[in-house]
Amino acid sequence: MSQDVGTLYLVATPIGNLEDLTPRARRILTDVPVIACEDTRHTGLLLSRLGIDRAGRRLLAYHDVNERRQAPILIGLLQSGQDCALVSDAGTPGISDPGFRVVRAAREFGIPVVPIPGPCAAVAALSASGLPTDRFTFLGFVAPKSARRERQFRELRPSQGTCIFYVPARNLGQVLDELAAARPGCRVVIARELTKVFEEFLIGTPAECRGRLAGRSVKGEVTLLVHLADDDAPPPEA
Ligand code: SAM
Repeated sequence: MSQDVGTLYLVATPIGNLEDLTPRARRILTDVPVIACEDTRHTGLLLSRLGIDRAGRRLLAYHDVNERRQAPILIGLLQSGQDCALVSDAGTPGISDPGFRVVRAAREFGIPVVPIPGPCAAVAALSASGLPTDRFTFLGFVAPKSARRERQFRELRPSQGTCIFYVPARNLGQVLDELAAARPGCRVVIARELTKVFEEFLIGTPAECRGRLAGRSVKGEVTLLVHLADDDAPPPEA
């Protein structure tokens, strides 16, 4: 590996509370000449809120849609010796966010990849859930369509440990109804608006949580955790 290549830093950023940016993340974001980010306006605003000077720094759009095209460009910059940070809109890059392609390419080209760990909604929710943490399965976003989601819930197995899903808030009620049908006895924790002013945890069976949300329009960011008892099996399909 040439000594002249740059380093790719995967920088976790706050999922709500700006105080959660680590000093190391701040230093890297202050020092690197290139920051690849999902949304340049969003990250530009974050940098200015954090008091990090944008002058002389290049913000490069790197998101779901252009990831295939942008990964080689980022690799080219790294190969030319420039250090690059990758951030997502919130949390840890690559976790239900773009990042995997450029990290894999960097590894293939022998470019150093350095994680700058910090906030991640899945880990924050799990750690504070009260559900077992010794074994867990991160399943990313719930499937967008109801039929696929129901199958997803029926296929859950106790051996997966605590299962973690990201859920669009607008779908939470329906997702809980589907979970109540597929796994009525499971234990659920809904972690909403973590690290923000209206942070909330709802705990119970899917039906109990659904009942507590009745009449409310759920807003914000939601992480859903599901734990099955050892003998939990889905009811026979109708
Ligand atoms: N990379 C991010 C991470 O490390 O957590 C996750 C990005 S994913 C596109 C966004 C989803 O994460 C949201 O739809 C929500 O399900 C979850 N999420 C993000 N911030 C959250 C928060 N403050 N509270 C609860 N869930 C959150």
